[in-house]
Amino acid sequence: MKVARTIKSVRQLVIAARGNGEKIGLVPTMGALHEGHRSLIMRSVKAGNFTVVSVFVNPTQFGPREDFNKYPRPIRDDLKICRDTGVNVVFVPTAKEIYSGGTVTWVEVEKMSKPMCGQFRPGHFRGVATVCAKLFNIVQPDVAYFGQKDAQQAAIIKRMVADLNFPLKIVVCPTVRAADGLALSSRNRYLSTQQRRDATCIYRSLAAAREMIKAGVKAPKTIAGRMRKILEKAGSLTGVDYISVVNPDTLEEMKHVEGKVLIAVAARIGSTRLIDNLIVDADRR
Ligand code: AMP
Repeated sequence: MKVARTIKSVRQLVIAARGNGEKIGLVPTMGALHEGHRSLIMRSVKAGNFTVVSVFVNPTQFGPREDFNKYPRPIRDDLKICRDTGVNVVFVPTAKEIYSGGTVTWVEVEKMSKPMCGQFRPGHFRGVATVCAKLFNIVQPDVAYFGQKDAQQAAIIKRMVADLNFPLKIVVCPTVRAADGLALSSRNRYLSTQQRRDATCIYRSLAAAREMIKAGVKAPKTIAGRMRKILEKAGSLTGVDYISVVNPDTLEEMKHVEGKVLIAVAARIGSTRLIDNLIVDADRR
């Protein structure tokens, strides 16, 4: 496994692999890797790709009062996980390498960046779309892997790739959860023992929504109301940013539940903001 710190070096490694007839798989991450990230990496390795994992805590997707400085950066552990999982190249650039000389060109995926997390994290998806566009141009993968855990991000990146004709395929992988349902996240390590226990309210609220939809409930308000009640029973809950019932591809709000529905939640447990979601098919009981 090679560790590339510059754009030039990662490009050279990818060009050599392509020359050997390899397909290139990219897994973009911010590090602090866990089983969720590992499932994406394994998907690429198992597909037989020459697999590049980027580890980059992207400053442009954090707001001024967010956790950019305290975001975990256990790079040694990350490299071990990558090595053990069969990664070919880990790309670990500095912010200067990615944003040399400042950036005045941004990728904005309109409409889809506005609802849900976009309301609470202005500029977040502009940062995400821009860094992904840069990584796609730097690495030039055939396939890039994203997690369903970040449903809005996955939908936005798919749309950006379609709208801007990036010549690559986006694969969205299922959310990996702890045994009690909590979606794995690099931010879970901020939680105290009690908060970690209470954080299961997020998955429980989503599971209840799924039950309601399978039982034929059609009104998003009824579903969101029940979810909110479940969330508010958790002692460590400090706020619910949103509960959304939307079309999984366009992220448009549904007035009436039908077909595939994305149920998404952002809630704060103590000072940690966690997101999770489920896609439910209302037509398949
Ligand atoms: P991050 O490092 O949080 O930016 O995440 C990098 C990639 O891993 C994104 O595509 C995430 O959606 C994905 N990911 C994070 N957590 C999970 C999880 N629990 N299950 C599946 N994918 C995940």
